[in-house]
Order: sequence, then C-alpha cells, then structure tokens
Amino acid sequence: MTKYVYFFGGGKADGNREMKESLGGKGAGLAEMTNAGLPVPPGFTLSTPACHIYSEQGSLTREIEDEFEASLGQLESLIGQKLGDPENPLLLSVRSGAKFSMPGMMDTVLNLGMNDKSVAGLGKAAGERFAYDSYRRFMQMFGDVVLEVDKPLFEEILHETKKSKGAKTDTDLDAEALKEVVLHFKSLVKEKTGKDFPQDAREQLRMSRDAVFRSWNNPRAIEYRRIYHIPHDLGTAVNVQKMVFGNLGDKSATGVGFTRDPGSGAKEFFGEFLMNAQGEDVVAGIRTPLLIAEMEQELPAAYKELREITDRLERHYKDVQDFEFTVEEGKLYMLQTRSGKRTGLAAVRIATDLVDEGIITPKEALKLVEPEALEQLLHPIFDPVERRKFDTVAKGIAASPGAACGQVVFEADDAVAWTKKGKRVLLVRMETSPDDVHGMKVSQGILTATGGRTSHAAVVGRQMGKPAIVGCGALKIDMREKQFEVGGKTVREGDTVSIDGTLGEVILAEVPTAPSEVIRVVHGKMKPEESEMYQRVSRLLEWADGERRLGVRTNADVPKDAAVALAFGAEGIGLCRTEHMFFAEDRLPLMQKMILASTDEERQTYLDQLAPLQKEDFVGLFRVMSGMPVTIRTLDPPLHEFLPKRENLMTEIATLEATDAEKNKERIDELKKLLSRVEQLHEFNPMLGHRGCRLGITYQSLTEMQARAIFEAACEVAKEGKKPLPEVMIPLVGIDKELVAQRDIVERIAQEVLKKEGVEIDYKIGTMIEVPRGALTAGDVAKTAEFFSFGTNDLTQMTFGFSRDDVGKFLPAYYEQGILDRDPFDSIDVAGVGQLVQMATENGRKQRPDLKVGICGEHGGDPDSIRFFHKVGLNYVSASPYQVPIARLAAARAVLEEQE
Ligand code: ADP
Ligand code: MG
Ligand code: MG
Repeated sequence: MTKYVYFFGGGKADGNREMKESLGGKGAGLAEMTNAGLPVPPGFTLSTPACHIYSEQGSLTREIEDEFEASLGQLESLIGQKLGDPENPLLLSVRSGAKFSMPGMMDTVLNLGMNDKSVAGLGKAAGERFAYDSYRRFMQMFGDVVLEVDKPLFEEILHETKKSKGAKTDTDLDAEALKEVVLHFKSLVKEKTGKDFPQDAREQLRMSRDAVFRSWNNPRAIEYRRIYHIPHDLGTAVNVQKMVFGNLGDKSATGVGFTRDPGSGAKEFFGEFLMNAQGEDVVAGIRTPLLIAEMEQELPAAYKELREITDRLERHYKDVQDFEFTVEEGKLYMLQTRSGKRTGLAAVRIATDLVDEGIITPKEALKLVEPEALEQLLHPIFDPVERRKFDTVAKGIAASPGAACGQVVFEADDAVAWTKKGKRVLLVRMETSPDDVHGMKVSQGILTATGGRTSHAAVVGRQMGKPAIVGCGALKIDMREKQFEVGGKTVREGDTVSIDGTLGEVILAEVPTAPSEVIRVVHGKMKPEESEMYQRVSRLLEWADGERRLGVRTNADVPKDAAVALAFGAEGIGLCRTEHMFFAEDRLPLMQKMILASTDEERQTYLDQLAPLQKEDFVGLFRVMSGMPVTIRTLDPPLHEFLPKRENLMTEIATLEATDAEKNKERIDELKKLLSRVEQLHEFNPMLGHRGCRLGITYQSLTEMQARAIFEAACEVAKEGKKPLPEVMIPLVGIDKELVAQRDIVERIAQEVLKKEGVEIDYKIGTMIEVPRGALTAGDVAKTAEFFSFGTNDLTQMTFGFSRDDVGKFLPAYYEQGILDRDPFDSIDVAGVGQLVQMATENGRKQRPDLKVGICGEHGGDPDSIRFFHKVGLNYVSASPYQVPIARLAAARAVLEEQE
C-alpha cells in the first residue's frame, strides 16, 4: 500500500530531509528537525502524490482519507486534545509546502478548529481575549483561503473596529471588541457565500486541506513557477500541525530570521520578531517588527536557544538557514527551516566563508551558488564621485544591495506595461505582495514605505537580485493619485528616482552609475588584491575549474572583448564573427563596393584593400589569445545587412531630383546605379538566402582573402614568439561538399602562406553545425571537418522554423496555452534541437574519434543548456565574455549533479 501521510512528533518522524519531492521542503524540514530532537509542534504531512490525485479526480481516495483520519487520531492522542472539543480544543495549522519554496504563493490556515463552542472552552482555559483573537484570525484566513471571500473585506472590518475603539494596533483590541469582530466576520461570510461559517472542525480541516491543494494552481503560483522555471506538475504537500501560540501575551512572540545576512552575506544573525503576535503579522507589515537582536532582552532564554538551534541547523544543512519560530509563554518552537534565498553577492560571500569556517568543502560551496547569481556581481553601482552631487531625500531599510534607477510606477501591471514600451521603471508601493511578482521581475528596483527586512519585498527583491529598499516611512504614498511625497517634494508616476539598496538611500534624480568592483578589476581599473569580492569569486571559480569537464571559451571579435573574457577565465575563442569587422566606419564603404562589384577584377581590388585591415584584426586577437585556440568564422550574414536600404535610396534620389536634378545629376546617377544593384541583390528571405558558406562558394575570392588574412596574421604573431592557434570555421554547412569546397580554398591558402613565411602553425579547419541537414549528415561532414561547433541560434531557428527576431509576436500565446514554457532561444530545446546536437556529435565522432565539438550559440551562457551539453559530452561551450564565469560554474555544477 502506498503511504500518503507522514507523521512527525514525539521525538521522531516518518520523513526526513531527503524527501522534499514528496513531503515538500517544509514537510521534509519539519521531519528532519523532529528527528534531530528540536522543539517542533507535532503533526503530519500529506504527500504530493495525494495532491496529484486530488488535482486529477477533484477528491482524495477513500484509502487516503482513512490514512489522514488515522494520523489525526494519532496526533490527538499524542497531545491529549481533540479537534473540535468544546472544552479543550486541539487547534491546528494547515500549511502548504512544495519541493521548491515559493514565498507566500500558496496558502496557510492557522487556528483551525475554532468554533462558537470551542472559543468558550478556550476562553476559560487561556483567557477570553486570546480565544477571540484566535477565532477571528482563523475566520480571516479560512474566509480568504477556503471560502474565497476577498481578504480586504476582513481587514476593513478589523480596521473599522480599531477606529471605533480608538485602538492603534490589533493588540489594543480587548475581548469584547474581538467578539464584535467575530460577529461582523460571520455576517460578512454569510453575505458573500450564502452560508454560515462552518462550525464542524473536521469539515474545516478537510476544506482547508483541499484548498491548499488547489492553491498549487492559483494564478499567482502559476506565474511564479513560470518565472522561476519550476515544473507545474510537482504539486504541493499539506502539513497539518498543532498550533503553538505567539499571541498568548507578553512572554509570547513570533518571528523569522536568517543565520546570516541574506543581502550582503555577512555573518550576522538577521531577522525580526513581534511580541504577542501570530503568523503572518511579522511579514505583513501591519505592526513594525523588532530587530531580532532585541529578543535577547525580551525573551533571553528563548533567544539563547534559538541561536543554538539555528547554528546547529546551519551546520547540519551546510547552508544559511531561513527559519520561522514562535515563542509560547517563554518556550521556543521551531516552525520551519530551509535554505535562505540570497543575493548573488551574499551567495558568493557565504559560500567562501562557510569553506573558511570548515563547515563545507569547496565542492559543496559550488552547490551553494547559482551560476546566474554571478551576474549580479557585474551590475553597476552608483559612481561615487557623481553620487556626492545628489542629496539623499530619505532613508529606508537596505534590503537588497545595488544601484537602481528608473521611472516611478505604483502598480505591478504598470511596471510590465511600461517596460514593454522600453522604459526602465522603479516599482514604488506601500508593500508588495505575491500578486506583484511579475512587476517586480521587470523593475530596476523596488521601494516600499512599510515592511521590514523579512517582508515580501525584501525577500523577493533579494531572490531576484534586484536592489530594494523597504520600510521607507518618509514616503507618503497616495496610491489613488499615483504619487508620493517625501521631504516636501511630490514625486509623480513617471518621475525618475534612484535607490541605493546597499545603503538604503533614496535620491530624487538619475544618478550616473559606474562599473561594479568585479568589472573594474576585469577592465584593469582596479587591482585584484584590492577587491575582496573579486578574490572570493576567483576562488570559487578556481574550485569550479577543478571539477568541470567542459572547456569554456568565449565569443569575441575584438581584442578588448577577448581580454575581458580572458580575465574571466576563458580558455580560447569559440566564435569570432568576422562580419563585425566589416561594419566599422572605415570598412563599410569598401565592403559595400566589394559586394556591389559587377566583375571579379573589380571585386578583387576592394578585397585587396580590405585584406590588410582584416589581417590587423586577427593579429590583435592572436596576440591576446596566445597559446589558446581562436575559432574564426568566415563571412556569414546575408549581404543585404551591409547595403543601404532600398527605401532610403529611393527617398534620397527623389529628394535630390526635387531640389535640383540638373546640379545633382552625377550623384543621382550614382545612386540609381546603386539602387538597381541593391534591387538585383534583393532576397525574399535573406535568413535562408545568400549567406553563410554560400557566400564563399559564390565569391571564392572572399574566402581566399579571409584565409590569407588569418594565416598571415598567425605567421606575424608567431614570429613575435607567441603561439597562435587558428581554427577556421565555415558557417551554415548543410551539405558535406560545401565544406569540402571551402576547405580546399582555406587549405591551399594556408599552405601557400606558411610556406612563404617559413613558419609552422598548428591549425584546424572545421564547420558550424547549424543547418538541420548538416546535423543529420554529420558523419559525412566529419570526414572533412576537424571540429564541429554547434551554432544553436540558427539551429534552433531552422529546427523550429521560428524566426528568432519574431518569436516575441507569438511566444506569449504559446506560454499562455502551455505549448512552450521557455523561449528555445534562451535555453536549449532538449527534445528537438538537443537531439540533433547529440546525434550529430555521436555520428561525427564515429567518423572521426578525435573530433572536437563545441557550441557557440547564445545557449553557451545558459546554465540549463550547459548541463545538457555536459551530458552530451561536448568538449567546450563558448559564451559571451561576461557570461564566462557563469559558464565555468555551471559546467562544474553539471559534474556535481551527475555524481549525485
Ligand atoms: P509560508 O510557506 O508562506 O511561509 P507557513 O506555512 O510557513 O507559510 O505559515 C506562515 C506562518 O504561519 C508561519 O511563519 C508561522 O508564523 C505561522 N504558523 C504556521 N504553522 C504554525 C503553527 N503550527 N503554530 C503557530 N504558528 C504557525
Ligand atoms: Mg513559512
Ligand atoms: Mg549562424
């Protein structure tokens, strides 16, 4: 019989930390803590397979219901209280919890089991005020989560009651006032649902449990999973747990915290708590929470125990812990522990610190840093000199570090809409909620007037690596007018504001930015030993190099970019696009004339002029990359990219004719000739037209010129005592004979040049695999190619038949209808394009066992794609210079994942 319910309590648990998949992160954590003897209120977890059954059938099976009931009985007898008992009621919390934490996305119901009878019994035992506070909290959460009555309606009633009683906070309301609140809540529920508030505790439990299962598919949870690429079919577990009460008076409290600062990574106990409060009070920003350090005075024994326990948890889990706790009359209870979400800065710092503290090994450190997190270390900061020119208008809590600047918007939807129009926005709100995540994602930064270090805005800001300031009380926000006042000034929607999330400072201007520390080191503007962060990243990446099997190269066309990539640890150039060299101002005219030439002789004269320029480009690259392979691709793009636009020519001619046709005759004739040649070259579908190796096949002298430039440059650099390693790459090969034809030219020129210069150069000739036919016939292609490099941009484009420049028009509909959930140009489509990559690699190597295989598409910098390329056994990935660190780390993590 399959087991669906896992008990925890009485010092042992059925589950453990390994069971996240079926118990969810929360359930696995509760089980693990229980097994470790920590004070956890007992309960049981209904597994994710039960969620799947519920989703498919709309109800649970008899078998699961029975198991659920039996576990409830077990809990009742362990505690010695019964659910729904009017004298001494057992109260429960019903909590969601999936494999990956999704802060606030799904639902929780607290104080379940309260009804008109038990409130009296509880009142006798623990005081009327407490009993009614628990009852109204339960009604509020159950009403919102299960009965789907709008949450603000409950809050309004509470607010009105507070106003009429002259109470500042919830805690000022006495038992009588809370009784009134309960009455109002009841009529609200009756009015909105047409039914009385359910009094039967078992029915309350079943309804809550099912609502938690359903919350897996609420729109904001779906959106959240889409943003974070979490599979939609995981499902959630449900945790049913005995309540402990942080609202029992002035020896009780509730709080959340981190074992280290999740913004900076500093080794500082970090968090917030509230006296005499429950659950979400801390995060909701209703009352201002206290810094966790103050708990030492208020509740010394519980504080000491909390420090000890969380220290142990950090060592046990070998990672920063994000924990939730409640103190009931001085006694501490742990309610949750999990790995804390952190910024990229913090991730690097924490990983290296934990190694230095002997808690983890370097290998384990690699698992603690998401490759994407490294990107945040490259984000600009405010230019220190410029920054001094602007005043700080307000200070808030520095919740997530970094500099951000954008136009103020107040609604998440506006943030998305404005961003679509190409604007950079800063999201300003009283506080954020899980409904705002899509807007936070597109904003440059987040600024809120309320909330603390552990508020939603702070947690999600850090997770996204967005600069964030929270609890900036000086902002007087008027959501209706979409404006705020601060320091006597009014800031309206659309005004530009800057925030420094590192210091918590708000500036009413656009403050110029400067490169981050890591970037300054890489650009040679700062010494490595001056930057602590750079050194930490370097250490981490050296550990990664010790593990990874994939090589990491870079896509670079000019020596400057190559140097940056080298400083980031690139091991060669995987793609040098020669066309970029022809777009330079001094070259484009020559290039145009070369293309427009009507005879071979004419073409040759322009090629001869381009040759020395082209050679210089390669000399520079070979110098920088001495001793490392440099893959140079012969000319690839559709020719029209180099030519003036037809429409522009026509307008120019028309204008000249209109002004003075006589005087402009010469120029007009010239333009007309150009126009007719442009029209001759016009293609209906240039992306599938005269481009790639087809250029070199029609204009052989072009390939000759490029090959000569490459080998002459290599000889020159070799004579300087350096070691050039050219790899000539023929693009867009779909037919093996295309490659044979081009290889013959390159080979002939290479031999000619090397003989003439009297130099020996180690070189290779290979091809890009980017046309599906090239992949399908890879075995034949490999007869000629000494290496393959998958051009996954074109390969994706041609395999799907999606123009990569136009996917924006239909991808949103594809996401909405669940046809695709990721842009295949961002992350490799394993099933289709990936299959071609794998097959071509295998067939190529069958033909030529020492075939070198790499990838040079945009996917070379995407960690998920890198994992796949590792699995397929490619030799290297090539990423853009700033993605090289990401690729190094991702390649190492791919190895570690394989070992697990
Ligand atoms: P989330 O996943 O959104 O953090 P939780 O299930 O952790 O939701 O519940 C939110 C809060 O509810 C917890 O931080 C805690 O304060 C409170 N809570 C949950 N379970 C209990 C319990 N058994 N006793 C007291 N408070 C609880
Ligand atoms: Mg929680
Ligand atoms: Mg291509």
